[in-house]
Amino acid sequence: MSRRTDRLTLPGQTPGAEQRLTIHRFGDPGARPKAYLQASLHADETPALLVQHHLVQLLDAADRDDAILGEIVIVPYANPIGLAQFVDGYHLGRHDLGGAGNFNRNWPDLFAPVAEQVADDLTGDAEANVALIRAAMAATLRKCRPATPLESLRLLLMQEAIDADLVLDLHCDDEALMHLFTIPAHWPSAADLAAELACRAVLLADPSGGDPFDEAFSAPWVRLAERFPERPIPTACLSATVELRGQADVSDELAGADAAALFRVLQRRGLVAGDPGPLPAPQAEATRLDAVDTLKAPAAGVLAYAVALGDQVSEGQTVAELIDPTAEDPAKARRGIVSRTDGIVLSRRSYKYVLPGMTIAKVVGTRTLPHRVGSYLMED
Ligand SMILES: [Zn+2]
Repeated sequence: MSRRTDRLTLPGQTPGAEQRLTIHRFGDPGARPKAYLQASLHADETPALLVQHHLVQLLDAADRDDAILGEIVIVPYANPIGLAQFVDGYHLGRHDLGGAGNFNRNWPDLFAPVAEQVADDLTGDAEANVALIRAAMAATLRKCRPATPLESLRLLLMQEAIDADLVLDLHCDDEALMHLFTIPAHWPSAADLAAELACRAVLLADPSGGDPFDEAFSAPWVRLAERFPERPIPTACLSATVELRGQADVSDELAGADAAALFRVLQRRGLVAGDPGPLPAPQAEATRLDAVDTLKAPAAGVLAYAVALGDQVSEGQTVAELIDPTAEDPAKARRGIVSRTDGIVLSRRSYKYVLPGMTIAKVVGTRTLPHRVGSYLMED
């Protein structure tokens, strides 16, 4: 057995409090390729916690067979701060109750400090450039001085992932089909991941506008290659956000199958020995994120959906009706919310009372939508 489990202590926000981050490590330290998978940075997105539970068991079995070839870091819960955020019995794990905002936004961009460090030392050797850039990224993180428990957590997670070849951030949507987010530079190289997970959508944006965790590891490589076009700089870290359906989609059947899919991805990419079998047929083409219509509630009210997840809808088709409970005349209480594109219904809202501006559905089309171009593409 090579698996080692570390329990790292985070400083407490308040006197007498401290939290711990658990990290499972498989394979020899420094072995390549390296993969990093973390669960539930948005701490209320439960499917990933169960997927990691199943994946660790698959990796333990592979470990017993000496089949771990690379280095695999599994973070079974990435956000102990968010896991503790219960208010009046409700778990609020998406935003920091301490005021720091959405846990998956505003991750640091290492491009500028790394570009400065490596500018004079890049060569015509792509492999050497990758090593140089990874060392500069790690050195940049070592200089960080976190001031809060959340900053300490962010730094610990980044330090674990910064030199990985594959970084997967496991999330889920509200009510949704399986899908993933990554940058255009990773398509079609991430096609195996999308096919194994049977993703119904692959959404591409760079930048998406929110500085999510996954882009902190992929985008700097693209920027460095643009900055130093005369030097070979590959996109050395494939990083993606995996949306494991919806918040209520938590079962051993789903999580076991998803963990097995991720395990086969690790086999295909040379981290684990063994034959993953033929790659399943893809369930979706990649789509630009600005081709996804994000439907918003025009007013407060109660949603009655007219479509189900996975339904194909046309431009102008009613996706949901919004009912105004204050209307005197029930015949005039309803207004339709229509899709502005042809596509499939990727997500819906599970809690049906909404306020103005809340997202009520996403429809994945194929053509760029004018109202999405230049807008802040990510939901907060
Ligand atoms: Zn999330």
